[in-house]
Amino acid sequence: MAAGRTASQNAKKRAKRAKSTLRTEENRVRLTKARARTIKKKKSFGIRPEYDTTEYKEWSRAVKVRDGFKCQFPNCGKTRCTLHSHHIIRWVDAPHLRYVLSNGICLCKRCHDRVTGAENLYVGVFSMIVYQNTLNQINRNNER
Ligand SMILES: [Zn+2]
Repeated sequence: MAAGRTASQNAKKRAKRAKSTLRTEENRVRLTKARARTIKKKKSFGIRPEYDTTEYKEWSRAVKVRDGFKCQFPNCGKTRCTLHSHHIIRWVDAPHLRYVLSNGICLCKRCHDRVTGAENLYVGVFSMIVYQNTLNQINRNNER
């Protein structure tokens, strides 16, 4: 049989989803447990508290917007994946550049892992990419 769900399978799935979001005591407990697991998981991955600030999130978002939600590593260009905002000059090396837009570049997780530990090697090329993306963003904004 061809791939894809039949109409009745879709209806069953919808019904199941509707049931799972009902405000019942059972669902409340289930969701609370799920949230606790997420928090525990985040802690075990060591999400740093400084990454949990509005300032950081806004910076990270602005970097991704400027870069079109696309990995900027040369010849990568992935979009449908986990995207990170990488600090071109490392966070620890330049506290005054932590939230400066031009010090960030959008990378996919894989490329970010590749860069981590060798950040200094990429400062030049990333700066050139960001320079071009910034000019493109200015031009886009002027066209509006
Ligand atoms: Zn990439």
